[in-house]
Amino acid sequence: MTKITVAKGDGIGPEIMDATLDILLSAGAKLEIDEIEVGEKVYLAGNTSGISAESWDIIRRNKVFLKAPITTPQGGGYKSLNVTTRKFLGLYSNVRPCRSMHPFVSTKHPIMDIVIVRENEEDLYAGIEHQQTDEVVQCLKLISRPGCEKIVRYAFEYAKQQNRKKVTCFTKDNIMKQTDGLFHQVFDEIAKEYPEIENEHWIIDIGAAKMADTPEAFDVIVMPNLYGDVLSDVAAQITGSVGLAGSANIGEECSMFEAIHGSAPRRAGQNVANPSGLLQGAIMMLNHIGQTDIAEKVQNAWLKTLEDGLHTYDIYKEGISKEKLGTKEFAKAVISNLGKMPSVLNPVSYANNSALNLPKYKRKPSARKVLEGVDVFVQWNGTNANELADIVKHMENYNLKLSMITNRGIKVWPEGFKETFCTDHWRCRFKPVEASVLTKASIVDLLTNAIHLNIDTIKTENLYSFDGKTGYSLGQGQ
Ligand code: NAD
Repeated sequence: MTKITVAKGDGIGPEIMDATLDILLSAGAKLEIDEIEVGEKVYLAGNTSGISAESWDIIRRNKVFLKAPITTPQGGGYKSLNVTTRKFLGLYSNVRPCRSMHPFVSTKHPIMDIVIVRENEEDLYAGIEHQQTDEVVQCLKLISRPGCEKIVRYAFEYAKQQNRKKVTCFTKDNIMKQTDGLFHQVFDEIAKEYPEIENEHWIIDIGAAKMADTPEAFDVIVMPNLYGDVLSDVAAQITGSVGLAGSANIGEECSMFEAIHGSAPRRAGQNVANPSGLLQGAIMMLNHIGQTDIAEKVQNAWLKTLEDGLHTYDIYKEGISKEKLGTKEFAKAVISNLGKMPSVLNPVSYANNSALNLPKYKRKPSARKVLEGVDVFVQWNGTNANELADIVKHMENYNLKLSMITNRGIKVWPEGFKETFCTDHWRCRFKPVEASVLTKASIVDLLTNAIHLNIDTIKTENLYSFDGKTGYSLGQGQ
């Protein structure tokens, strides 16, 4: 018996959760259910996170959370409960299998069977944003070595367990050499430990195009958070319907399982919603808690039901489907197929499918970190970078000298182009005359000079090398 936390959510949530639990329990899942209230009601009662402290305690105690979609009210500063849950519980891995059900669910991609493994905690989703000048706002893209190692290792271990042949990595490291560069580098390092699994890297733009056009070229695809968020919806949609896909959010201690779609409020209360997405999430949950025999039985019954042409409205198609069923009737059809096998779609076998046992991240020894300069960002309302250079050169001190100015990353001084469009947000790079004597005190001195000169500094970034490797980007055009 495994105790799990269940939230029935909003909109179609309660209907698809009841249908899902009905199927699981009829199949013999050994589950003890602790139900909590999250979502719209909790938000509207004045809790901006959509969940109470007592519910957190229950989720943390049970560790396994099956969640129906919830409605995040628009405006009013309500925080997305999904993002909060993933981060608070350290659910670093988001796994979304996307498989075509051809010829029973119409799709342009009949032989598609891919799994997107998305990093779930960092990247632009760290949610660190600032307005810095009248014209410029910033969102910090944070990528960490532990974050990369954990998700890439997860992808390879998952591929190994599932007998998958290839892991592909998508990044944009031709542009983001530090952040996406680290993700790609860690991918190459860890791939070497799995010689039996093919590996490859694609630049995200052409990789995404290829995935949307020829998904059968891919198997497991691992990627940073934002790309994974977008492309996992694309992948699910092109199998035929987002309504068929579930996802697992896995951490070192806790896990959360859900459908990938939302609460579809317009369909609520009508017994029409397709429970398949949540059911797919629930099947991943059964595998995760070791009830693999039940997971297998439910999945094969579900495949058989789709094959029988018993479809909810969202996938119903004249000529392919036999009968249009409501949520409850679809669940009953799956239940009556428990113990039966699909005959056209490949049946599944989950004998090896229990939770992956992944090593804890081990911190590497610190590198030799050398301060090599500083970028001082300033707000300035002029347009001619030569004039700004004349002003900020007065900040220079005994060691730090102005070496470059960029605007939105493009070098505008020295030798900029008059055609380059400039905002009020300028990066002034100062490098030492004598690197060996550069200290943070000289940076403080530089900033003190800026105060005296009435220069509007908005932030600084120290420039470091790590074991001799430059840890910052050059200006574009430098
Ligand atoms: P949605 O996924 O809820 O619905 C989009 C459309 O897809 C619906 O109108 C419906 O026609 C169809 N659909 C979705 N799921 C279906 C199902 N199971 N069966 C049949 N048809 C289905 O997306 P939305 O309308 O953009 O969002 C509605 C609400 O859901 C919003 O408040 C949003 O914040 C929330 N949301 C929650 C989650 C989550 O909790 N994981 C995820 C996405 C959106």
